[in-house]
Amino acid sequence: MARTANRLSEEEIGLVRESSLLVGRTLAEVARRIAPGVSTGDLDRMAEEFIRDHGGIPGFKGLYGCPSTLLISINEEVVHGLPGKRTLQEGDVASVDCGVLMRGFYGDSAYTFEVGEVNPEAQALLRVTKECLALGIAQAVAKHRTGDIGFAVQQHAEAHGYGIVRELVGHGVGRKLHEAPEVPNYGRRGHGARLDEGMVIAIEPMVTMGRKEVSQLDDGWTVVTQDGKPSAHFEHTVAVREGKAEVLTTFSYIEDVLKERGMAVA
Ligand code: MG
Ligand code: MG
Repeated sequence: MARTANRLSEEEIGLVRESSLLVGRTLAEVARRIAPGVSTGDLDRMAEEFIRDHGGIPGFKGLYGCPSTLLISINEEVVHGLPGKRTLQEGDVASVDCGVLMRGFYGDSAYTFEVGEVNPEAQALLRVTKECLALGIAQAVAKHRTGDIGFAVQQHAEAHGYGIVRELVGHGVGRKLHEAPEVPNYGRRGHGARLDEGMVIAIEPMVTMGRKEVSQLDDGWTVVTQDGKPSAHFEHTVAVREGKAEVLTTFSYIEDVLKERGMAVA
């Protein structure tokens, strides 16, 4: 039987799992530090050092000219915010995306954090976006199609009156950070690329509180909502399996830290 390009062997999936766990541990270090007054550049430097200390290479830095280890997107920023001098403020929601390359394979995950006290509307956005991710993952089983994932994500977000970003999508993960197939967060059941056992994909709903339209800032990176309303982003790297997807990245390290710190878990 022909082997699809993005189907990985068990050994290869094991390597993605190792990279993915380091992503989870890195995001847990972010969780430990996230607070009003902390600069995004400091979080980025910490993350790079942590990844390198643990035998990995920052997965984004240098890829497509990306200057940083983390992409940190605050409030109306959807994805691809560049870390720098900006400091987090009480009430911000900050999406932190992280990739690791280790022993030839990538892992990719994102989590949206609450900074201090966040208003109930933003809390609900985060909770629903995380639910969208779980619903998408539930569809990542063999013989399904990418449209089944997109449909599940879109339905749930739109049922809450939220927007689903169209311009950016999930993707295959393996020897490259971005491989086929594209995994949109919208779609029709039974449509799109077929999912097979051993395919590894990143599922990453980007959900907006208001309208779905986005623009890119002049920095050539940061994607923002056109209406200026907040957005959330949660991402897992998963292996497609018969019956039930295997989640290779993890939020458990992050959420252990948030609970330790008495912070809200979306
Ligand atoms: Mg990512
Ligand atoms: Mg991704």
